[in-house]
Amino acid sequence: MSRAFDDREVASLSERMGYLQSLRVGFAAVVLSSAVLAPRVVGGLTANLLMICAGYLALAAGLEVVRGWGRSRKIFLIGTMLLVDGAYLAWIMYVTGGTQSPLRHLLYIHLIAVTLLASYRTGLKIALWHSLLFFLLFYAQAADLLEPTDAALGLIPGSPDFNRISLFNISAFWLVALATAAFSSLNERELRRRKADLEDLSAMSAALKQESGSSSVAHALLDAVSESFGCKRGLVAIRSDDRYLVVATRGSEEAERSDIADDAIVARATTTSETLLVAKPDADQEICRILPFARNLIVVPLEADSSVIGLLVVEHQAGSRVERRVVSMIEQFAAHGALALRNSLLMHEVQTLADIDALTGVANRRVFNQALEREISRSSRTKEPVSLMMIDIDHFKHYNDTHGHQAGDEVLKAVGAALKEASRDFDIPARYGGEEFAVILPECSARQAAGVAERLRETVCAVDVGEAITASAGVATFPTNASDASSLVRAADDALYESKKGGRDRLTKSRRHPRSKDSSNGVSA
Ligand code: GH3
Ligand code: MG
Ligand code: MG
Repeated sequence: MSRAFDDREVASLSERMGYLQSLRVGFAAVVLSSAVLAPRVVGGLTANLLMICAGYLALAAGLEVVRGWGRSRKIFLIGTMLLVDGAYLAWIMYVTGGTQSPLRHLLYIHLIAVTLLASYRTGLKIALWHSLLFFLLFYAQAADLLEPTDAALGLIPGSPDFNRISLFNISAFWLVALATAAFSSLNERELRRRKADLEDLSAMSAALKQESGSSSVAHALLDAVSESFGCKRGLVAIRSDDRYLVVATRGSEEAERSDIADDAIVARATTTSETLLVAKPDADQEICRILPFARNLIVVPLEADSSVIGLLVVEHQAGSRVERRVVSMIEQFAAHGALALRNSLLMHEVQTLADIDALTGVANRRVFNQALEREISRSSRTKEPVSLMMIDIDHFKHYNDTHGHQAGDEVLKAVGAALKEASRDFDIPARYGGEEFAVILPECSARQAAGVAERLRETVCAVDVGEAITASAGVATFPTNASDASSLVRAADDALYESKKGGRDRLTKSRRHPRSKDSSNGVSA
């Protein structure tokens, strides 16, 4: 009977055993009150009947107390008590009229209760037990091993009447057992499936809490849906402006970050905000580029704050009809995923706002400091050099005085954009302060630094702001000119100062020695 009480049960074991205990008290109450209220039908309240009921209740209470003590024998005790129930009811039948007992409906109630509260398998086993006891009692009576009671005298075991009635009773009994078992197994399966779905959903919510980036949130959502509903392929796309970027795929060769905004299915799901079931999408759809020959697609809009922020697409198993239950569960997964995705996108936005200098669009001083420390420690590990260029606009005060502060702001904006545009993907341009910028150049050796820095300086000088501007720059390299982040900044700044001193509009390459305390060690390149 142990399989009946596994962890995936819908109601807790102790809760269901509580109901069975109440049922036992109920049985005794029905038996005794019937004997008192209808003595002629039941055979009266005999000492025999009282003793059976008292013994039964005492045994049930005793086993309940023992069951509360330890965990290990719980299932065994529950099984034992169900057998005791059978024996008690058989005895009551025997005492109150045998096969024709007016209390025989108690057997059916017990059978139905066990089937529903324990499991349909346990119910069938108990049906077998009841049948066995039935034969045992009445054949024991036939063999004169048991005294026939007054109420049981009506029929003689072995007589044709007895056989017919026995057969009828036993058949009815098994019919009830099998019907209850069949219906309860259906019910149980559905409830277990729902419980499993909810467990998967809460596992996904827990997984989403661990993720912060939008891409990892999208992957967690796609993995959870695919694994819970047996989908082999799928994708998650995030909407930004009029683009739909694929940020997570499953079972697809296609690289992520492709744009599927032009897909008609995507457009329809976005405008209707409703889940679409697409049995056979056209081969020229964008989705089919990522999931070739896709069939049975479930396309769920990811909605947050009343707007569609993305899309979840999964391919349901080929050949099988998509159940309404599956669609509504996937929609629940998607609703949780959408909120997590919205939060991660907001976090990213806030982070970006905190990291970026609002006027120039390049990293601010705080991010510059962190990035430089990170690049220096990476360089120490990998032995790849890192260079730093500092660049300052010449006579900017004069520019401001002549053209106004607002025009000056426009210059700073244009310089920021030019530095971003001209630097490599992994270079880090930043606003160091006022009209001074810095560019971290990872994996740029002292030998390459002058060329790279001069190219960047010329780009800055070429910005079109109505009037020609010039800029002075200094460049230094770790570990060639400095032993840590702050001495590298000092070395590049000193070189910049040398450029200013030397007449501006030029670049100076640091010649500082890493251990040098002398700050004037720069020479024009
Ligand atoms: P030098 O060639 O020696 O660098 O001369 P300079 O005039 O550029 O240098 P200085 O340090 O004397 O002046 C820097 C000027 O940059 C002063 C300040 O008004 C201007 N500045 C700093 N931040 C901003 C800003 O955010 N917007 C504008 N428009 N001007 C700024
Ligand atoms: Mg200046
Ligand atoms: Mg300055």
